[in-house]
Amino acid sequence: MTTERPLRVAVVGAGPAGTYASDILSKSGLDVSIDIIERLPAPFGLVRYGVAPDHPRIKQIIVALANVLGRGDIRLLANVNIGTDLTLQDLREHYDAVIFATGAFEDADLDIPGIDLDGSYGAADFVSWFDGHPDVPRTWPLEAKEVAIFGVGNVALDVARVLAKHPKDIAVTEVPKNVLDGLTSNPVTDVHVFGRRGPAQVKFSPLELRELGHVPDVDIVVYPETDYEFDEVSMEIAETNKQQKQVVKTLTDYALREPGTASRRIHLHFMQSPHEVLGEDGKVTGVRMERTALQGDGTVKGTGEFIDYPVQAVYRAVGYWGTPIDGVPFNDRKGTINNEAGRVLDEDGNPVPGMYTTGWIKRGPVGLIGHTKSDAQETIAKIIEDADALYENSSAGAEQRSPDNVMRLLHQRGVDVIQWADWELLDAHERGLGEADGRERIKVVPRDEMTNISLGRS
Ligand SMILES: Cc1cc2nc3c(=O)[nH]c(=O)nc-3n(C[C@H](O)[C@H](O)[C@H](O)COP(=O)(O)OP(=O)(O)OC[C@H]3O[C@@H](n4cnc5c(N)ncnc54)[C@H](O)[C@@H]3O)c2cc1C
Repeated sequence: MTTERPLRVAVVGAGPAGTYASDILSKSGLDVSIDIIERLPAPFGLVRYGVAPDHPRIKQIIVALANVLGRGDIRLLANVNIGTDLTLQDLREHYDAVIFATGAFEDADLDIPGIDLDGSYGAADFVSWFDGHPDVPRTWPLEAKEVAIFGVGNVALDVARVLAKHPKDIAVTEVPKNVLDGLTSNPVTDVHVFGRRGPAQVKFSPLELRELGHVPDVDIVVYPETDYEFDEVSMEIAETNKQQKQVVKTLTDYALREPGTASRRIHLHFMQSPHEVLGEDGKVTGVRMERTALQGDGTVKGTGEFIDYPVQAVYRAVGYWGTPIDGVPFNDRKGTINNEAGRVLDEDGNPVPGMYTTGWIKRGPVGLIGHTKSDAQETIAKIIEDADALYENSSAGAEQRSPDNVMRLLHQRGVDVIQWADWELLDAHERGLGEADGRERIKVVPRDEMTNISLGRS
């Protein structure tokens, strides 16, 4: 179809999902002009603010994402929050289509007694702290010697590892000074990770689980005599699923190790479900776990047998949760935007014209960075299918929808927009800080400092 102007598309969220979607759309053959809008002063989403600092190899994905965002054909508008700086109505007026790639950054709830006690935390909040997120407090109360973590996914392992690692082994990473200072006074000795089901059902990836066994001066303790339970379905998974087979093998290797003498320990418990967080004077003093039993189909049921563990802090790593944006149909039960293969659906299940979604906010907070690429492919395929209708509708707001107009609006509203060249200044600054300390980078944390450096105001 021939058009007078490119289709104006806003991609909300400059994490991997939004970046891959922008990349695929820009190469789709459609005549498009793309703005990728990000609420934080820095791009890359959870690759910068979720992936653990001691996983530099995974953080390297940022290089590929930067190649897309810095190429020149996609415009980054960072430090712009959709919902406050620009509303959905503004997006409708300034763009022909919008793709929501806002991810998930909050903790899912866990409804058990005592979960709100002082000393009970969400893993996502702790991750944001140790990854230097600008919108969370600078200090974290690391006062517990014994800690419980509910959940057996990679986030639980990240939290356990960062808590148990000795500060000198984290000091070589990009962690900011406030985080290093906090970790230096961490008195922890024992971190207990709890899973409701058996070793065949844990969600650890084999690599992360193996890595745990190499953390200096930290022993891994497992309890095969009580926690190793396999029903028929579990046996089949443990024998046929390659990933799960490796996980079970690694756990068995840990079980066969001679008892260690390290000064810190990570205990991996299975077949125990959180029943209550115990407390005194409003503070966490322990956790009460209920032993579970497999039901033959891989699911578990409580047995009525309870075990108490004395701990002074609890982290729930039971999943991330998406945040709704005013006016965008949201599924409260899943924490995602209602959609079918990336087309946003209204309450009646009909596609909302010109609205799409991709990444964690589209399908829920599971899966690795690579999965967001296939997500993006599916969503962009829908835009290509809808292209004729989108171009037809685009004639309605032709004058309004120029790239300059949206910038003018943001400036009128006093928003300090950070574009790619501005981010490059902050990137160079952080690398400079790192170089002076023999590290690759040291993150700048306060939002105003990030913005000032990016905009050359410091
Ligand atoms: C703790 C943790 C560790 C992980 N480790 C790994 C790992 O080692 N390897 C791996 O492959 N995967 C890992 N993952 C998974 C990986 O981070 C996700 O698969 C991926 O980041 C999801 O991409 P996304 O773009 O959908 O969401 P996100 O990465 O969350 O990006 C969404 C972006 O949207 C922005 N945004 C949100 N709301 C708005 C708004 N209103 N206006 C403007 N912008 C907005 C956010 O600021 C963010 O930048 C990890 C995840 C977590 C939580």
